[in-house]
Amino acid sequence: MSKSARWDKADSESKQLPIYKHKDKLVESVRNSTFLLVSGETGSGKTTQLPQYLYRAGFCKNGKIGITQPRRVAAITVAQRVAQEMQCTLGREVGYQVRFDDCTSQDTVVKYMTDGCLLREILADPGLSQYSVVILDEVHERSLNTDILLGLMKKKFSNPAKATDGRSSPLKVVVMSATLESDKLSAFLNNCPMFSIPGRTFPVDCMFGSAVGPKDIESTGYVKEVVKMALDVHASQMSGDILVFLTGQSEIERACDLLFEKAESIDYRYDVEDQTVEGLLILPLYGSMPTDQQRQIFQPPPPRIRKCVVATNIAATSLTINGIKYIVDSGFVKQLNHNSRVGMDILEVVPISKSEAQQRAGRAGRTSAGKCFRIYTKEFWEKCMPDYTVPELQRTSLTSVILTLKCLGVHDVIRFPYLDCPEERFILEALKQLYQFDAIDRRGRVTSLGELMVEFPLQPGLTRAVLKAATLGCQDLLLPLAAMLSVENIFIRPGHPEKQKEADEKHRGLATISGSTNDFATLLSIFQSCKSSDRPSAWCKENWIHWRALKSAFSVETQLGEILLRLQKRRDFPVETYDGNKSEILRRCLCTGYFTNVARRSMGKMFCTMDGHGSMVHIHPSSSLFDLEAELNWVIFHDVLVTSRVYMRTVCPIRYEWVKDLLPKLHEVDVYELSSVAREEVTDEEMMKWETKEAAKRQQEVAAEDV
Ligand code: ADP
Ligand code: MG
Repeated sequence: MSKSARWDKADSESKQLPIYKHKDKLVESVRNSTFLLVSGETGSGKTTQLPQYLYRAGFCKNGKIGITQPRRVAAITVAQRVAQEMQCTLGREVGYQVRFDDCTSQDTVVKYMTDGCLLREILADPGLSQYSVVILDEVHERSLNTDILLGLMKKKFSNPAKATDGRSSPLKVVVMSATLESDKLSAFLNNCPMFSIPGRTFPVDCMFGSAVGPKDIESTGYVKEVVKMALDVHASQMSGDILVFLTGQSEIERACDLLFEKAESIDYRYDVEDQTVEGLLILPLYGSMPTDQQRQIFQPPPPRIRKCVVATNIAATSLTINGIKYIVDSGFVKQLNHNSRVGMDILEVVPISKSEAQQRAGRAGRTSAGKCFRIYTKEFWEKCMPDYTVPELQRTSLTSVILTLKCLGVHDVIRFPYLDCPEERFILEALKQLYQFDAIDRRGRVTSLGELMVEFPLQPGLTRAVLKAATLGCQDLLLPLAAMLSVENIFIRPGHPEKQKEADEKHRGLATISGSTNDFATLLSIFQSCKSSDRPSAWCKENWIHWRALKSAFSVETQLGEILLRLQKRRDFPVETYDGNKSEILRRCLCTGYFTNVARRSMGKMFCTMDGHGSMVHIHPSSSLFDLEAELNWVIFHDVLVTSRVYMRTVCPIRYEWVKDLLPKLHEVDVYELSSVAREEVTDEEMMKWETKEAAKRQQEVAAEDV
């Protein structure tokens, strides 16, 4: 299809969207209010159309339109689509920015970005003076960064007359969400006007299955069951595309492999007279997928072919795929949760909430009546699935966002306007970690080190290690490592057992080239070997390494280097000297960031963590230190995998002397003292009010439990 034909099609499609009829009123509403809430069914055109309406209405004359997305892929895909609709090159008038990937230019006026990116921009420009409109999208997802942005918008831009910070005219804030929680959101934003776009939805017939019951909550058998169900739908149902909801990349790839294998030999069961489907087009969809592959998802399938998209939760609200008539729902999602057993955030597979399941089912009813096949039983729904998804803010570590808030001058992080308050102990835990990393002082004030740390889009421990290395003048050791730890998994794991053996051997070989048995050093030497190779992609292929992941690691390293260079120009950038060999310097730098993840061998192959949780942990079989436990005493680790056991992944042996002075920090600090600044500013009267409110809330919770 030619470019203009494609545009004509996109243009006529966009006029069919439910939002189109409300175009003028919407623009008026944005013009007339500081805050506006726009709600509407997924697929009604909010994300792709509203920014274009505002652009055409002249909102870009003195500033940009910024649209945030909780998910990186959504920001990229939607920007591509809008650039196509507006007939411009991506990166010119329409662009996107996500962590480590900036596709914008001087000309960019419609900018899609992740919520994390906007939060970083606020740090550099608290008044958001470059923007005329900020649209917070997908607010119902309740991602941590979007929730924080909501609070910041309320705090900073509630009073347009007072909005200073170098703005020529008051910032317009639009908050967009699916139909959930509209009243609560409007009330939070000073009872702002609500604009709801009436959607057209068709009934979806939901059926429970028998494959997954309450006993299967920990099993991984759902992949096979989902495949079975999808094939069954394909063989027995009339034409219409299938959308399968699974948990993550590896599960999706496994499911697609199985589908390819089995789809060949399908026995079609529906009436031959009616037969309109001859084949199955299987397409994966997950966050870290190459974007050119994602484009296919939106294309209609060839005639007589049924499309089957196997996706993560991204297809639940962020992206809308047309033509879906059947849903196959696994009932599970991969979610980052704070695990109190190990005191860390862990990506785990958990049952979705009932509201999430309804959202998934709704994807089948956009253009005509649909069907949703759940692989789980009614009992699983009743007993294992919570009513609503808990906001990320209430289940993950707050360390990074609290540092950001503090750097923005929000000292009282306890009384910050949260849409839903996180538990106080989570806030205190974050303050404690920041104190341990020297990012804040005893009174809860940001230190000069904290001001440097906030500039890095990395987890605080890793940032601390990078800064330590830079202080010693050996950032060339830590920057590549930080990059390698920030990209997706670099090791290829083939499905075939023979191939797997070959890959394992290659990976073991890579672990020895660094000269020391240490998983961090292995990552570093993979980075260096590949970079210095004449044919890096061939090198990767030979060593069973994902070339795409390494390519992004190279780019991430460059970007981190640029941030560091900028910071090193500051007059107060610390400088220290140290002599010793490189392997030791690397490990000592790691200790400054990872001393919170220290474990000491206690018995046999068992280690005990030192962070006060005293959990028993093991070395993961993928580590080069696996089976060498007897030779080890003290180790640090990057993260853990929790199954029936807790496994440390990416492990490095250390000496006790290197952490001896740091370990007391894990215990000495009185967390209440750290929040004292927050409390001092509160008058007694206010405190009373707050406490009464809290008490009332707790009473309500207790009452709710009794019911
Ligand atoms: P909302 O934000 O209200 O959920 P969107 O603006 O995301 O709605 O989607 C509106 C329409 O645009 C949907 O029908 C969707 O299929 C279509 N669309 C979005 N992105 C693309 C794309 N990359 N290619 C083709 N169609 C797309
Ligand atoms: Mg949207």
